[in-house]
Amino acid sequence: MADSQAAEGVQAAPRACDLLVTNAYLITMDAARRVFTRGAVAIGDGEILAVGREQEVAPAFAPARTIDAQGGPVLPGAFDCHAHVGLHTTRGAFSEVGSESEYFASYVRWTNALDADEEYASALLACLEMLKNGITCFIEPGTAWAPDAVAAAAQAIGIRGSVADPYLWDVEGFWYAANLERAPSNRERALRELGKQLWRNRDSRALVRGHVAVYGIGSATDELLLAAKRVADDNGTFFTMHQSFEPPDIAADDARFGKYPLVHYAEIGLLDRRCVFAHMNAVRDDEVAPIVESGLSLVWNPGNYLYWGVGDHYRGRMAELHRQGANVTFGTDVAKVWAAGEQGLLGYLVTREKSDYLAPEDVLQISTLNGARAMQLDDRLGSLEPGKRADLVIHTTRLPEQQPLLDPVRNLALVSRTKSVRTVIVDGRVALEDGRPTLIDEERVYATARASVARMVKRVGLSPGTRWPTIS
Ligand SMILES: [Zn+2]
Repeated sequence: MADSQAAEGVQAAPRACDLLVTNAYLITMDAARRVFTRGAVAIGDGEILAVGREQEVAPAFAPARTIDAQGGPVLPGAFDCHAHVGLHTTRGAFSEVGSESEYFASYVRWTNALDADEEYASALLACLEMLKNGITCFIEPGTAWAPDAVAAAAQAIGIRGSVADPYLWDVEGFWYAANLERAPSNRERALRELGKQLWRNRDSRALVRGHVAVYGIGSATDELLLAAKRVADDNGTFFTMHQSFEPPDIAADDARFGKYPLVHYAEIGLLDRRCVFAHMNAVRDDEVAPIVESGLSLVWNPGNYLYWGVGDHYRGRMAELHRQGANVTFGTDVAKVWAAGEQGLLGYLVTREKSDYLAPEDVLQISTLNGARAMQLDDRLGSLEPGKRADLVIHTTRLPEQQPLLDPVRNLALVSRTKSVRTVIVDGRVALEDGRPTLIDEERVYATARASVARMVKRVGLSPGTRWPTIS
């Protein structure tokens, strides 16, 4: 029987490696959830070669470079499983509005006015924000007109992503489709477009992959849903859509199916572990078993759940579903007043508000390993183990919010969170070093985003700014 304390991947004679991270409070997220108080990780050719006690790992390697984590927590890169990165700049352009209809009126005009340059500018900013907050992989849910622009942005920043064909739907009269003349609700069109991004998966080392998406929340027929899922199955990837967002779409699905949507989906054979459903704000008792038994993944967007007051109508059940074994992940959705990396605390507090409980260890698992599982990539991402790709985040302890650091796991999950991110490694490459991106000029990202938003605000006819008198 193997010694559970022994370092894995260590060989007798020292061998060359690209990078050695030492002096780490190492949160592995491996099957036993081992934590090494003074750990080390050896990396070669983008792969994790060894993980364990520094005293065992370090002597076994002759690294080209060593990074001293200075005792800071080191853990796997986080996942954002529902991020509309091409719409990220709306966060800075939309004034505070009280009504959802006012918000969506601007949102529709903005979406219609986007082109590849503006989506690139938005995605570049979103990806930099993710990197600086320790998110190393995201799912774009099929709402970027130019998936190539999103892919280029992720590659320029050096993080992973997955893209899909945009706005696929086939229910006639679906309100959003009726407002986006560039994407008519049409089955032939949807079937033709399905899977066009999957060529990206031919290169197993590609940072940006492809998946299958339809828009969802009542915009797809059973025929389209099953066809999309079949393409995902045939290509070994996942299928994602929006589902059970808020009262109107939930009521429409209940009426359309004559039963709760997840019960219906189970009956038509849609559900299994390759399904990734975003929002799922309404989970009725009859829907719990189909969710848990099918192994599908849920993307929890607590920011948007709070923002639109969905809790007035439906009690959030993500903590309960997580305890029952459902694969719950986090998503930013379209960022409104929150930033990358804040869903963990929001999810924790949403849970607390209902007198329920989510452990800090759960928050970290949901952020990391569960995201890899949703993307069908848990054989290569999501934990720090030999043989997996080297995506890891090094945190500093030199921060008031990191003190007194009696329980670094709890502190990291709930208090210092992503404020303490110092250095980020993706596929073995240092993409963020001491808070600065290494592959791109940070100022250029901001300038590109500002210029884009200035164009878009003019194009769409918005006038953002404070309500206070402003003297220039
Ligand atoms: Zn969404």
